[in-house]
Order: sequence, then structure tokens, then C-alpha cells
Amino acid sequence: MVIVMRSGATEEEISAVKQIIESHELATLMMPGSVMAIGIPSSIPTDLRDPLQQQLEILPGVSKVTQVSRSFKLASREFHPESTRFSVGEADFGGEQLVIMAGPCSIESYDQLRETAAIVRAKGANVLRGGAFKPRTSPYAFQGLADEGLRIMKQVGREVGIATISEVMSPDMVGLLVENVDILQIGARSMQNFPLLIEAGKSRHPVMLKRGPSATIDEFLLAAEYLLANGNERVILCERGVHPLDRTYTRNTLDLSAVPVLKEVSHLPVIVDPSHGVGVAKWVPAMACAAIAAGADGLMVEVHPDPRSALSDAAQTLTPEAFGAMIERVGTFAHVSGRSLPCAAEAG
Ligand code: PEP
Ligand code: MN
Repeated sequence: MVIVMRSGATEEEISAVKQIIESHELATLMMPGSVMAIGIPSSIPTDLRDPLQQQLEILPGVSKVTQVSRSFKLASREFHPESTRFSVGEADFGGEQLVIMAGPCSIESYDQLRETAAIVRAKGANVLRGGAFKPRTSPYAFQGLADEGLRIMKQVGREVGIATISEVMSPDMVGLLVENVDILQIGARSMQNFPLLIEAGKSRHPVMLKRGPSATIDEFLLAAEYLLANGNERVILCERGVHPLDRTYTRNTLDLSAVPVLKEVSHLPVIVDPSHGVGVAKWVPAMACAAIAAGADGLMVEVHPDPRSALSDAAQTLTPEAFGAMIERVGTFAHVSGRSLPCAAEAG
């Protein structure tokens, strides 16, 4: 159950709600946001649900009381029936127009990012991606340009006129990322880094949360719940593939069934990353089309002017030509699904 207070509800009104809940030996979860919401995270005995709802609904300062059957509350569509929609620069998350995030796996230099940004923007991308802090399996692999990479990202984003996204790996780095990029990316390996989720939630900066390689849908949405429960309403979900049964052909298994499930049980926008999902450039376009046909709100794909020289994820990275051709193919599926491509892509 979630109790949403009116805006301007007083401390006394909030504590009256809390007291009634606690008098039934139920714990409360305070969720400060644009208005205060009070959650009851544990399950409520069936015979108490309706009487408790009626008792709380009539209290002064209470706006609405919703019974939520799922373990995640604020992330659920039961709690928030309308789809979440917000803009970051020209990207409209949860709207009719798709969001296309593209760019290199890692920021390698000013020239590399500037060239990529100009290419992907011209072909229709409305968000530039690029990692400055890279979560690499091996400590000997390229770790990213760190602060210098973020400086490059900020400058290129401004020069090219495109929104930016980059990964944040630890809670103490949230402030630095907020200063330099428009969207914080929480990577698959960090999906359950709870101190990071809390800090990113408190920042209220848009966040894209990637699904952990072994995470169930409920674990994924409970991680998103941390962001929402800490006051952040601009949360984006990203399916990027789960641990595969067979690594012979693909790096991960892109779980496209997660797309309609997430769209039904949650109100948050859903992006699909087919690059990490399959790990092989030639199979990325097919999965990008399938993601849009399945109802995704957008894509994240890796693109590099010369993928063979990319310092990370070269095998899954598209050439500029392959990216352009993919966008054209995606357009067909977007149109039959009642969606449109970003303006630059529609014009091209
Ligand atoms: C990335 O986007 O470059 C990345 C590291 O993704 P993931 O967290 O999905 O592996
Ligand atoms: Mn990558």
C-alpha cells in the first residue's frame, strides 16, 4: 500500500498517517519526492487491507491511497498508471518518438568522440553515449579516460547539441557525473550497488539503470525502486542481455520478453541495448528492430568511426554506415508500431 500526501501536507498530518500504520504493527517507508509518499513494504493481512485503506483515505493531508500487490511499489503501474514521460534535451523518454542513444563504448579522445557525435546525430541519434569510467573484467584492460573523458563528453555534447550519457560506478562519483553529463548510466554490474542507487536517487538527475546479467525482473525493478524511493522520478530501464546458456555465438542473451513485461508492470521508459545484448556487430540491427517491434521506447547502440581500432567492445561496435542502415531498418518497425524516429532520422 502506498499513501500519497497532498503537496504541503504538514509534519503532524504525516505523523498521524505513520502512527495509524504502526498501530497495526506494520513498518512504514518514507519516500520523499515532489510530494511525500508513505509506503508499507511488507504484505498486509487480507482482512486489514480495505479497512486500513478507508481509515487512511479520510485523514487530513492524504491525497490518495493505493494497494500495490507487487514487491516494488513506486515503480509499479498499479501505483502510477500513466507511463512516465520526460525530456532530456531533444530526447523524449516514454513519448511516441523513439530515443536513439549511440556512441562509442569508451571515450578515447576529443577527435574520436567529436567525429562520432557528428555522425550519429546526423543519422538520427538524440543522445550521445560514451564511457569515461569503464567497468572492465580485467584490471589490465583500458579503464577509460576518467575525468578527462567527462570533460571531453561535456564539450562535445555542447558543440554538437546533443544530450549525453555516461556511466557512474560509485556513490562518490555521482556529483562529478551530474556536473558533466545529462543522464547517469548505472551499469549492469552495478545494478545492485545500493549505496550508488541511493546517491543517484538523491541527485534527482535522470538515470538509466541497466539490468544485471543475472537479475530477475523483480530484482531489476526493486533496484529502480531505490532510485524512485530516494526522490528521483526520471528513471529509465535498460535491458542489455542476461547470462547466456550458450556463448558460442552471442555474448549474452538479449531478453526481449522483458520489454512487454516491463511495459505492463511498470510505468518507466524501457530502452534496449542490443550491442551488449548480442556482442556481435552484424547481429545488432536485427535485435534493434525486434526490440522496437516488442515495444521498447528506444535503443542504445555502440558506434565508432573505425570499430577495428576501438579500445573496448570492438566486436559489437557498428561502423557509421552500419548504424545508418540500422536506423533505416528500425524506422520500418517503428512506423508499424505507431512510433516515429527522431526528426533527423525521419528527414534522412
Ligand atoms: C556499457 O554500456 O558500455 C556497459 C559497460 O554496459 P553494461 O553495463 O550493460 O555491460
Ligand atoms: Mn561497451
